[in-house]
Amino acid sequence: MENGELDAKDVTRNVVLVPIATIGCGKTTVALALVKLFGWGHFQNDDVKVKKGRPQAFADTVSNMLIVDPVVIADRNNHQKRERAQLIDDISRNVPQARFVALNYVHDRSNYDAIRKATRDRVLARGDNHQTIQAGSKSQDEIIEIMEGFMYRFQPLDPSEGPDDVFDLVIDMDPTLSSRDNLEFVIGKMHENYPALFQDVEMPDDVDLDAAIEWAMNDYKPDFKMD
Ligand code: GDP
Ligand code: MG
Repeated sequence: MENGELDAKDVTRNVVLVPIATIGCGKTTVALALVKLFGWGHFQNDDVKVKKGRPQAFADTVSNMLIVDPVVIADRNNHQKRERAQLIDDISRNVPQARFVALNYVHDRSNYDAIRKATRDRVLARGDNHQTIQAGSKSQDEIIEIMEGFMYRFQPLDPSEGPDDVFDLVIDMDPTLSSRDNLEFVIGKMHENYPALFQDVEMPDDVDLDAAIEWAMNDYKPDFKMD
């Protein structure tokens, strides 16, 4: 049976988490913590090693991971509708029963200054740990310019039309909150909507969540650098 015909409460696999975000929102930190806690799959755009057809290669890798991983996090910014359309179309072609959940890091234009402060503080403080940015090799001004580009081009999720009307669930997240808080929020929403995904796992407590974020922020190092 196709996943599309299943009730959300009976879904046990073929779920793709799609962040909608800009640089420094904490996408990778939250993703790594979810991997640590639940053994879900995670693929980062910066780990695509081919030069041509990168979007397709990204979608194909996420599709392949769904063969073994019940949930896969498609870790890139997906900040424009055309990126979301490409990801959803290409994965759906490979895996027709896939369901998409938006990790929607809400970017209201009126909140841009607070988002700038939060994301810049994180990236500039810990930039050597960031796969896309690599603070050590770029000036602060160059980093800020790259981040501004993403914020300028950001197209908010609009569930009233394509491609965003495909999302099975939208989890609204605040980019100015800590990744620890966002992690707890995502797990709560996923558990509420897709209880069968968690039927064989013990739900993490506060100590487990703290430890997963601590690991994601301090022990994980990106293993592939773009230059
Ligand atoms: P992404 O660009 O959205 O993938 O953001 P990352 O998850 O890579 O986070 C950007 C930087 O901020 C990384 O160096 C993280 O370790 C760090 N970071 C992530 N979440 C938090 C947080 O809640 N607090 C602080 N202080 N730093 C964070
Ligand atoms: Mg990242």
